[in-house]
Amino acid sequence: MSVEELLRAHDLRVTRPRLAVLAVVNEHPHADTHAILDRVREQLPEVSHQAVYDVLAALSGAGVLRRIQPQGSVARYEARVGDNHHHVVCRACGAVADVDCAVGEAPCLSASDTRGYAIEEAEVIYWGLCPDCLAASGEISPPGENPAPGEDPGRSDPETSTLPPPNPRKDARV
Ligand SMILES: [Zn+2]
Ligand SMILES: [Zn+2]
Repeated sequence: MSVEELLRAHDLRVTRPRLAVLAVVNEHPHADTHAILDRVREQLPEVSHQAVYDVLAALSGAGVLRRIQPQGSVARYEARVGDNHHHVVCRACGAVADVDCAVGEAPCLSASDTRGYAIEEAEVIYWGLCPDCLAASGEISPPGENPAPGEDPGRSDPETSTLPPPNPRKDARV
C-alpha cells in the first residue's frame, strides 16, 4: 500500500506535510519530534513546527503512526503499528530497538489479575544498556582522566539507532 493509499484508508487527506512526515518516520523508526521536524524541513523547508506537531498528532490519533514515550524520554514515533511489539531502551544513550514479543516467566504479557478488564494490549518497556554503551562501559577511564567530548564535527556513530544530525551541508538552493 502506498502512503497515499494508507492515508486515504484512514480517511485522512493527502497533504505534503503528511507525506513527508510518513516518509521520514518510515525511514527512521523511533525518531523524536525534533529529528522528524529537521528531516521534514529538508524536503519542505517552509513547514512550521506546529504543522509537524499537528501531523504527528493526526497520524497517531488515526493509528497510522504509533507514539511511544519511554519514561524520561521525549515522544518517539514509528510506522510499525498494530502488532503490539515492545521496545528496549538504553539507559545511557536513549537508543530504542524493537522487541517482537515478550516471552518467558517474568516479565510476561499475562496480567496476574485483569481486575475484570478486557485486556487488548500490553505495553512492555525493557530498560538496559545497548551493545554500544555496553562495549563503551568496559573502556571507561577513571573520572577526571577522560577528556571532555570535543566538538569534532566529523564525529559520528553509525551504530546507534538514534538519528544522526541532519546533513549540515545545505545544497545551494537559489
Ligand atoms: Zn546506548
Ligand atoms: Zn518499535
